[in-house]
Amino acid sequence: MKAYDYHKPHTVKEAIDIMDGLENAKYIAGGTDVMVLVRQGKLSPANLVSLRNVSGLSGIDVQNGVRIGAGVTHTQIANNEFIREHYSALAEGAGVVGSRQIRNVATIGGNICNAAPSADTACPLLIFDAAVVITGKSGERQVSIDDFFLGPNRVVLEKGELVTAFVMPAFGAGTGSAYIKHARRMAMDLPVLGIAARATVKVGGKEDACRDAFAGDVSETIKRLEAEGVAFEDVRIAMSVVAPRPMRARKAEESLKGRTLSEKTLEELGEIAASESQPRDSIRGEAWYRRDMVRVLTKRALLKSIERAVGASSMVFPNRLW
Ligand SMILES: Cc1cc2nc3c(=O)[nH]c(=O)nc-3n(C[C@H](O)[C@H](O)[C@H](O)COP(=O)(O)OP(=O)(O)OC[C@H]3O[C@@H](n4cnc5c(N)ncnc54)[C@H](O)[C@@H]3O)c2cc1C
Repeated sequence: MKAYDYHKPHTVKEAIDIMDGLENAKYIAGGTDVMVLVRQGKLSPANLVSLRNVSGLSGIDVQNGVRIGAGVTHTQIANNEFIREHYSALAEGAGVVGSRQIRNVATIGGNICNAAPSADTACPLLIFDAAVVITGKSGERQVSIDDFFLGPNRVVLEKGELVTAFVMPAFGAGTGSAYIKHARRMAMDLPVLGIAARATVKVGGKEDACRDAFAGDVSETIKRLEAEGVAFEDVRIAMSVVAPRPMRARKAEESLKGRTLSEKTLEELGEIAASESQPRDSIRGEAWYRRDMVRVLTKRALLKSIERAVGASSMVFPNRLW
């Protein structure tokens, strides 16, 4: 491992100024991606600029939605009551990153800026229409999370720029969300694929009946929800590890516009999402398997979102849905 200088700025401006005057420098937050690469010799920065003590990167602020500082750790997100209730999929995503030790130091900013196709908080941010707040020499700009990723480990940041926060709008009553990480084992594994869903629904019939519908098995649940006329007002589906970058399943989302829930709409949703995915073979799973699991897990994530939207499930966990 080559020696490097370690810089410890205290403000965003100081961090940007330090970065501006350096060659071969890298920001480091929790270091759980950076230091692995440095130790493996895949990254040899002459300078590391630490974001750990930079003010303005911390905090979860509720204001017409929510603003999450880039330096907020996965543990802080997973344990935040407001996020758990209103942005459940994000709490779930943050709650399944690595191990407890990793989650205690690793940040949401690092997870997104590292831009791994498997990043567990990427799909949740996509379904919540998050904006990435970026600060650089020439000031602040916002980019939608969908435009932020360019490809594996590539994002739109210019030299010296850093991400300061993620901003998400508020969603009205009747909204629920879920994230499913499909991995080979529960403990510390990268996902074979990840699926997030957000649904805002309107119930034509009785809300109580919708809540009760989730007590039975899945096919019974769907029949009972269909009978109560659960209509889709707004839906987002996002998938990871099925393309070079985390992606929205836009055609699948479109397929639910103006429709009510039924076995048929769910089946179509799964088929369309699977056809939109572009998975490849890797050591974690073959393409055909990933595509098939997109078909299955898209339906599950959407049903879980509806369960939360109608108030049948007030809390996020358990991690395994069925
Ligand atoms: C054992 C282990 C298990 C893991 N398991 C998972 C997992 O299950 N799911 C998962 O998604 N990830 C996993 N990871 C990857 C990693 O922990 C996450 O991606 C984590 O969120 C990275 O955050 P960090 O703060 O440690 O980032 P760092 O390593 O500090 O930085 C990562 C990258 O982001 C840049 N960066 C960081 N913050 C900013 C900022 N504010 N502005 C601009 N650039 C910035 C850095 O320059 C670097 O390029 C695992 C890693 C390890 C070592």
